[in-house]
Amino acid sequence: MPENGFSAEEFFGDGGGLTYSDFILLPGHIGFPTEDVDIETNLTRNLRIKRPLVSSPMDTVSESKMAIYLALLGGIGIIHYNNSIEEQASEVRLVKRFENGFITDPVTLSPENTISDVDKIKKTYGFSGIPITEDGTLKTKLIGIVTRRDIDFETDRTKKLREVMVDRLVTANAGISLAEGNKILKESRKGKLPLVDKNGCLVSLMSRTDLLKNEDFPFASKNREKQLLVGAAVSTRDEDRERLKELVDAGVDVIVIDASQGDSIYQYNMIEYIKKNYPALEVVGGNVVTARQCKSLIDKGVDALRIGMGSGSICITQEAMAVGRAQGSAVYHCAKFAREYAGIPVIADGGIANIGYIVKALSLGASTVMLGSMLAGTNEAPGDYYYEGGVRLKKYRGMASLEAMDKGGDKRYYAEDNNKIKIAQGVSGTVVDKGSVTHFGEYIIKSLLHAMQNLGYKTIKDLHNGIYDGTLAFEARSPSAQGEGAVHDLHSYTSPDAALFYPHDRKRG
Ligand code: IMP
Repeated sequence: MPENGFSAEEFFGDGGGLTYSDFILLPGHIGFPTEDVDIETNLTRNLRIKRPLVSSPMDTVSESKMAIYLALLGGIGIIHYNNSIEEQASEVRLVKRFENGFITDPVTLSPENTISDVDKIKKTYGFSGIPITEDGTLKTKLIGIVTRRDIDFETDRTKKLREVMVDRLVTANAGISLAEGNKILKESRKGKLPLVDKNGCLVSLMSRTDLLKNEDFPFASKNREKQLLVGAAVSTRDEDRERLKELVDAGVDVIVIDASQGDSIYQYNMIEYIKKNYPALEVVGGNVVTARQCKSLIDKGVDALRIGMGSGSICITQEAMAVGRAQGSAVYHCAKFAREYAGIPVIADGGIANIGYIVKALSLGASTVMLGSMLAGTNEAPGDYYYEGGVRLKKYRGMASLEAMDKGGDKRYYAEDNNKIKIAQGVSGTVVDKGSVTHFGEYIIKSLLHAMQNLGYKTIKDLHNGIYDGTLAFEARSPSAQGEGAVHDLHSYTSPDAALFYPHDRKRG
């Protein structure tokens, strides 16, 4: 009935390609507080996570830091593969080794380094308490520590650390609990507590400045061994079988086969190879946008599908190739098919420009959303901030931008190795600073809980049932309705949120 909106089937049934902006969800009944909303969901057939947020495997979005802090919030990060096999496996290991409160990859120097090396570390990472080991790596014994108070007033910055380091150390044995470590830190009145193994080698570090930050993360995505969950991407190329092996050895929980057009013989072969050699590994196939493509990959054995072609903020695939699909339609049709045909979840990937679009993606049947641009401006994304016109920015680029392809990112786009002319399907750009993902992510999650309450659904499962039983109501938005839904008719306005949460286009609602 039009007076109450249309069902998803009626709305998407007429064949036109619709985007997230083209529709609005009509409200349901609020009969419960937001505390009763539970947005736990399936990432893949067998992996559940508490919050439906996934970071995209892009080299300006997802390395270990992003994966760690997103997993602590209950989402999951997918480590990109625009790097060497060793680098990618090491990023996965860093996530698996992470223990809240312990710095498991401390930056170390040797006694032969100078104070100016500490200055450089301070400038890059923002801290200056550096453990000193015999040869400057974690492989040799811990012999001292340099902190701010040892070097602050030293005018000769070329002085060797041997001369300024403190060598009478308070250490603790690796393996102690966070509470025990915190107690020692407090009692010793030191800034840093190095944790060492039985050979005296540094394993991790605790920091006084982190004492208060050691929050609890009750929704963290963890396996049975209490390690954080992490995913990693591989291409469809045979050479990535070696990469796959290293990632599995590093403890990866889910593999995302990364291809812009997922329905290919190369991807079929990769899925079959993984399922044969690593039957317990969860595999996400993609990207796909039609039910036919979904069927092909499901028949090969994938455990989830990644939906989207041409909708990413940095993407020019639809202009360059004339292939793709409007993301709203792609998510709706693929999610419906995957659910009916195999009962597997789909990830809505690309084009999520604001929190409302996350709600819309879930309301079209997606079980999780994959974020690129929304996360690229956070502290935890790779890369440094810089200023342009007074605005604090970070670089964000498509994996098929010329810039990223130069570093090897073209594996996703079937570029031949000897191709002299590379066809760009993405651009490089910038996004504004969004602060820490820990805070920004919590903001997103809180908004989702409110949105679910407004729609009248307590769980994502209920929301999905609402799509298919016709109770979730959709309505088209004319261009003027979209204007009406955004801020309008003011002389000016100040909205920190606008700068913070709507990086691409503040007018889109
Ligand atoms: P965003 O969240 O709208 O920024 O989109 C991120 C998504 O865009 C990624 O997860 C990929 O699916 C896709 N993507 C990444 N790099 C490129 C590219 O260079 N061209 C086209 N799509 C890309």
